[in-house]
Formats: sequence, C-alpha cells, structure tokens
Amino acid sequence: MPITGLTRDGTTYIPEFLVSIDAESCIGCGRCFKVCGRGVMSLKGVDEDGELVDLEDEGDEDYDDDEFERKIMVVVNAGNCIGGGACARVCPKDCHEHAPAEAA
Ligand code: SF4
Ligand code: SF4
Repeated sequence: MPITGLTRDGTTYIPEFLVSIDAESCIGCGRCFKVCGRGVMSLKGVDEDGELVDLEDEGDEDYDDDEFERKIMVVVNAGNCIGGGACARVCPKDCHEHAPAEAA
C-alpha cells in the first residue's frame, strides 16, 4: 500500500516523494531549495576529487570558494518530504526523481 495524503477537502492523493537529484545535470542554481519548505535539500560543493564539501557561510572570513569546483543540490532529509513536487517544477535541468513510497 502506498502512503496516501489528504487534501483540504478530504480527497485522497498519492504523494510523489523526492528520491534523488541528478548530480551530473544539476547546475546548483538553488531554485528547488527556495521553493521547498521542508528542509529536504541542501546545496553542497563538489571538490576536484568529486567529493561533497559543506559550504560554509559565504560571509564567514574563513570562507574559501577555491575548495570546490562547482555546487550541486543534494537530498539531506528525504524523510521530511511531503511529495508535492514543487522542486521538480522549478528545476531548469529536470534533475529530480520522485516516486510514491510504501507505507511501513
Ligand atoms: S516534493 Fe516538495 S517537500 Fe519534497 S523535496 Fe520537493 S519541494 Fe520539498
Ligand atoms: S533547481 Fe535543479 S539545477 Fe537548480 S539546484 Fe535544484 S536540482 Fe540543481
């Protein structure tokens, strides 16, 4: 049985939860982050070895953008997703994969 949700008028729907973000396609624009109110995603740096690095506060005096080659969005709290799909609708590179989830 898939997890179902209820709309305001009590209609049942099947949420499509965020499963993954395509790291190759992502350009780190941050649009998906801005429309997600659930803290599911986070912008990370990718260093020259392809490893993810945390992005410190850009206003921090220790901030050093030489530590990474590019930025990408990653899933950090998949369990917070409510499956509305706003992130996918604003992505210019079609990076997000969504799917229903099975109830435990
Ligand atoms: S589907 Fe909605 S809650 Fe889930 S990551 Fe995308 S914007 Fe956030
Ligand atoms: S909207 Fe798409 S391209 Fe932009 S950061 Fe999110 S996943 Fe990456």
